[in-house]
Amino acid sequence: MARHELYDEDGSTDREQCPRCGDAFLAAHDDRVHCGRCGYTEWN
Ligand SMILES: [Zn+2]
Repeated sequence: MARHELYDEDGSTDREQCPRCGDAFLAAHDDRVHCGRCGYTEWN
């Protein structure tokens, strides 16, 4: 089930670290992960 964009910053407990920030976590979505700090998005 797709997550809502409203939960962009805190949508999952399964988080990866941002390769750009290093110490920031990425918010996981169904088809991508997103960094709330720098805006980095990685599509799966
Ligand atoms: Zn980042």
